[in-house]
Amino acid sequence: MTSISKLEPRRAFLRKIRDPETGEVIDNGLCLWFPGPHSFTGEDSVEFHVHGGPAILTKLMQALSRLQVHPALPGEFTRRAFYNNKLDLTEVEGLADLIEAETEYQRKQALLQADGILRKLYNSWRKVLSESVASIEAYIDFGEEDNIESDVVQNAHQALGQLMRELKEHLADGRRGEILRNGVRTVIIGEPNVGKSSLLNHLVQRNAAIVTPIAGTTRDVIELTANISGYPVLIADTAGITEDIRDIVEAEGVRRAKSHAENADFVVVMVDALKCATSGMTWKDYIREYLSLLGIQELMATIGRERFIVIANKKDLLKEEEKRHFDDAETVLVSCRTEDGFQDLLRSLTDRFSNICGNPSAECPTISQARHRNHLDQCFRHLHKYFELCAHEQHDMAIAAEEIHKAMRELGRITGHVSTDEILDIIFKNFCIGK
Ligand code: GDP
Ligand code: ZN
Repeated sequence: MTSISKLEPRRAFLRKIRDPETGEVIDNGLCLWFPGPHSFTGEDSVEFHVHGGPAILTKLMQALSRLQVHPALPGEFTRRAFYNNKLDLTEVEGLADLIEAETEYQRKQALLQADGILRKLYNSWRKVLSESVASIEAYIDFGEEDNIESDVVQNAHQALGQLMRELKEHLADGRRGEILRNGVRTVIIGEPNVGKSSLLNHLVQRNAAIVTPIAGTTRDVIELTANISGYPVLIADTAGITEDIRDIVEAEGVRRAKSHAENADFVVVMVDALKCATSGMTWKDYIREYLSLLGIQELMATIGRERFIVIANKKDLLKEEEKRHFDDAETVLVSCRTEDGFQDLLRSLTDRFSNICGNPSAECPTISQARHRNHLDQCFRHLHKYFELCAHEQHDMAIAAEEIHKAMRELGRITGHVSTDEILDIIFKNFCIGK
């Protein structure tokens, strides 16, 4: 009988697995030995691959429990990996996102994060902060009389200024990483009977690799997830949104359409093509009037073209010459009945979503969570405060330098260098058992 720790590390061996007390064979299975620190958790680990029947598992668990082994809690492996410095918090969160990823671009972003793209970035910033504050404090301790401020402090200020510029750029990302992680919140608005429900059904049925009703956590709604060319799109299916906005001219309908549009990442404005073509108005005039009827003409003028699309539906009802009415780059003419125009629609939607979410890449790390953004905002504010304090005539360098320490702590909260049990509990409780 060999002890598993005598096996060559990280290789699978087919062995008889025996009860350590009685010597009875439990099963024939694969055994792997991962001595720490070269394991996922950093601790000594073993893996048994056995035939999955309940009797085998019960017997194996009984044998293991005599060795003071207990079944892993949700996220326990990852939590141990975190405590043993194998992963920082951004990597832990990346791993959780990777497991949850439903679309191709979500997978890409999560994998980059799990592989340490944010850890490297934020650690490099923490290093700049710690080196700068060390120089500044050395100056406070030794240099103030000798007037060496010019060099050491100026270099530190240059580094801090550069860091602030990088932070600012990182924060001004249009929230694309967060939108990609959470899904593009989309609303379809338009007059009754233009075809909103038909479009919704098409988007969800045709392009949804996964259609999951997710109970909204903050709002009491069901959200349908459509996977459109690898981008996750959340179409809220509340009474308020998919229900036709009846009596649209009345204040309540308008208010509702407006508030849905304002709170969305992406707005689909839907128009009845036949009604428009036979209105006697030009397309531009018709749309202007239509948007104003919905109460969103100002909003549409300000949100940027990648944030909305105008779809003219019921193309099948148009005569050939009427179709020319819609020769406009901003509009897609479709028929939900015949699916005519859906290729174009898909291309236009993909184009818009790639603008909103970006394409995750190693060169350009993006913020993926509001939690990170909050700490980065705070970090920026402390640095700003530092320079403000330094600008005062009679400033106390030691008090100002405290702001740099605070900025550092904010970055530490993102990576987990500074953490509280509450934060860790929130992050790890969402993990599945066995990870
Ligand atoms: P909503 O009120 O905006 O949600 O519109 P619906 O999706 O419920 O559609 C209203 C009516 O228009 C239904 O009778 C649909 O069958 C019809 N409809 C939807 N799309 C088309 C289309 O492309 N062509 C034609 N001819 N009828 C359509
Ligand atoms: Zn409807």
